[in-house]
Amino acid sequence: MKHLIDKLEQTGSLSRDEWSALIRGRTPDLAEYLFERARAIRHKYYGHDVYIRGLIEFTNYCRNDCYYCGIRRSNTSAHRYRLDKEAILECCTKGYGLGFRTFVLQGGEDGHYTDEIMVDIVQSIREHFPDCAITLSIGERTRESYQRLYDAGADRYLLRHETCDADHYQKLHPESLTAAHRQQCLWDLKEIGYQTGTGFMVGSPFQTPENLADDMLFLKKLNPQMVGIGPFIPHHETPFAEYTAGTLELTLFMLGLIRLMLPKVLLPATTALGTIAPDGREKGILAGANVVMPNLSPVEVRGDYLLYDNKICTGDEAAECRKCLERRMNSIGYDIAVSRGDSLNTAPVTAE
Ligand code: SAM
Repeated sequence: MKHLIDKLEQTGSLSRDEWSALIRGRTPDLAEYLFERARAIRHKYYGHDVYIRGLIEFTNYCRNDCYYCGIRRSNTSAHRYRLDKEAILECCTKGYGLGFRTFVLQGGEDGHYTDEIMVDIVQSIREHFPDCAITLSIGERTRESYQRLYDAGADRYLLRHETCDADHYQKLHPESLTAAHRQQCLWDLKEIGYQTGTGFMVGSPFQTPENLADDMLFLKKLNPQMVGIGPFIPHHETPFAEYTAGTLELTLFMLGLIRLMLPKVLLPATTALGTIAPDGREKGILAGANVVMPNLSPVEVRGDYLLYDNKICTGDEAAECRKCLERRMNSIGYDIAVSRGDSLNTAPVTAE
């Protein structure tokens, strides 16, 4: 199987059969070989810098009912909250002082945040923090809405495709949500000019190596600036409460593969990875990741943004999270960078 890793490094692509054979046939030795290659590429482009993004989880209301997600509409035991513009700006001020130069506004698909309200929030952040990148992660909206938010000053957008395969997608979502629409949103975002991030859960229910192969082919075609992947972790108040979580091992392997396929992409070691293993984020960095996303949300609401069970860092102050991650990164020979941390993957939109 080493020859497939060599081929991937040399050509940047594999066929669907090769992807699934490599994912199915992975071994600890092969993983070590992959991680060494992935680290070398990561060092070539990004050195030992780890970019930080300040995550502001500003609403946990959601109109959707994804079967895996703890803030799905049908979870009546979730305690719902929203942050207003002032509270969001306060998080940014705190974050700026801690060295954050990217703010990620993430939330459920909450109808309260109309285009007018979001434009006002984005413009205010842009005005107060002109040297910072503004990333939105607020789900599927119309192209016009994405355009308005871009014109207001948003630079980046995160929207995981979740799984490329339409049948698999339908096993994870109600009929009202489709893989095709989600993917169309991503093409729209790219065309508008956002630095676009996509991604998927590893080990989501019913996922096969062929599904992951299709995810890799989709990533290759979309050529996003960022790819967020993390293990699926069950939430006790969802239809998938009894399903098994994705593994650290497979998530790390996929991180390494993504680094080899898209050498300049921004690749976070996610909170979900840190949740399934105490040193998950460090291992993610050592597998080729180069971004971490500490939480800047106010402590009072942290415990309510629960997408899955046992989420880490729900009680810590932003400053503690920042320090803790700095220590963790330093312990494996990496440094947190105080910069916007833009992606070097700047290729224009080519397909679709
Ligand atoms: N509403 C926005 C959207 O749809 O992109 C952003 C919020 S959504 C909760 C963010 C991401 O959380 C999803 O893209 C999904 O991959 C991840 N997620 C949700 N439930 C999860 C779970 N049980 N385990 C791991 N990740 C999960």
